[in-house]
Amino acid sequence: MNSVLDLNAFISERAKIVDTSGIRRVFELGAKLKNPINLSIGQPDFPVPDEIKQATIRAIENNRNGYTLTQGVPELLEAISHHLAEDVGWKAPSDDLGLLVTSGTSGALWLAFMAMLNPGDECIVADPYFVLYPALGQVTGARVTCCDTYPDFRLTAERIEPLITSRTKLLLVNSPSNPSGVVLSSAELRELLDLCERRGILMISDEIYDEFTYADAREDGKCPSPARMTDQLLLVRGFGKTYGCTGWRMGYVAGPKPIIQQMQKLQQYTYVCAPSMAQAGLAGAFKVDISDRVAAYQRKRDLVLEAFKDVTPVEHPGGAFYAFVEVPQRLNLTASAFVEKAIDKNVLIIPGKVFSRRDTHFRLSYAVTDKTLQSGLEILSGMMR
Ligand code: PMP
Repeated sequence: MNSVLDLNAFISERAKIVDTSGIRRVFELGAKLKNPINLSIGQPDFPVPDEIKQATIRAIENNRNGYTLTQGVPELLEAISHHLAEDVGWKAPSDDLGLLVTSGTSGALWLAFMAMLNPGDECIVADPYFVLYPALGQVTGARVTCCDTYPDFRLTAERIEPLITSRTKLLLVNSPSNPSGVVLSSAELRELLDLCERRGILMISDEIYDEFTYADAREDGKCPSPARMTDQLLLVRGFGKTYGCTGWRMGYVAGPKPIIQQMQKLQQYTYVCAPSMAQAGLAGAFKVDISDRVAAYQRKRDLVLEAFKDVTPVEHPGGAFYAFVEVPQRLNLTASAFVEKAIDKNVLIIPGKVFSRRDTHFRLSYAVTDKTLQSGLEILSGMMR
């Protein structure tokens, strides 16, 4: 339909500045393929555990379909509170600490940026980063400063310190990391926290992949978390990846009450609440054992490392379900060019420049069947020989 309106004039500068072209290009290229070997997807390949499915179906049948309290339904808040006490030793909610159920971890991150950053304020993130992080800066007018962490993808206090300015308010840490899978140690997190404390910076810890931390990166059987060292940070976690329900849009955030209260106020006027039936259905989720699925992903991770070991360096991914693989320099190709060649061979991966200022690596997701993974790995490592 032809419009008499100049529709471009209706688009805000805020919307225009957000760039989705990198991912769109991969989707466009991928759309040409009939049955691609798809190693580009950022979600688990297992179904939602049956007890969670049934509890969610029951919630709908029991008419749990209306608005909930903005902060979340009582049984889920209680379950999260219990989990946080056990896992990181926090007592939330309490006089000092707030707890808010959010529409995905994306919802928590949006609210955190909206609640804390004025235009011109700064937040430091690692490069490579999860794609949402720079966009959050673009829509809030805040500056997202990228800390180059190549080649080992470790966000260290030493690398961050020179980037701190008088406008730096936040340090956003993501461990296990998307896209590299790298897991920071408690010692590294301790140094980051000390630096934040010295310079008056608040840390946000995006721990959406916490359950997907493999034996070699766990400490005392757990994913290292800065929340075990202080409660003066924002802890963001999710249900989508852990229980294979990314479409249900479920996450949560805990931290200093004055900040969570502001986020809750903004949630009232945006998301209103997280999906009611999903909240009720996930109240029992912490009791569900997914260790067999985590073990399966650890095995798949090992297949990835084995496949590339003679052809290109891969920084050890201790968690998540990604590897960030360097395109060998001897090939003389940008990662984008390598990805196009892979697509010609029916394999879908994401070029590193979607997550980075550099175009030297690609992200591979191994949350797929062994058969798909093996076929993809054979082709990709073959392209490097
Ligand atoms: N943080 C990271 C590091 C992620 O990888 C993702 C999802 N890919 C999110 C946050 C957002 O997750 P959600 O679906 O819960 O909004």
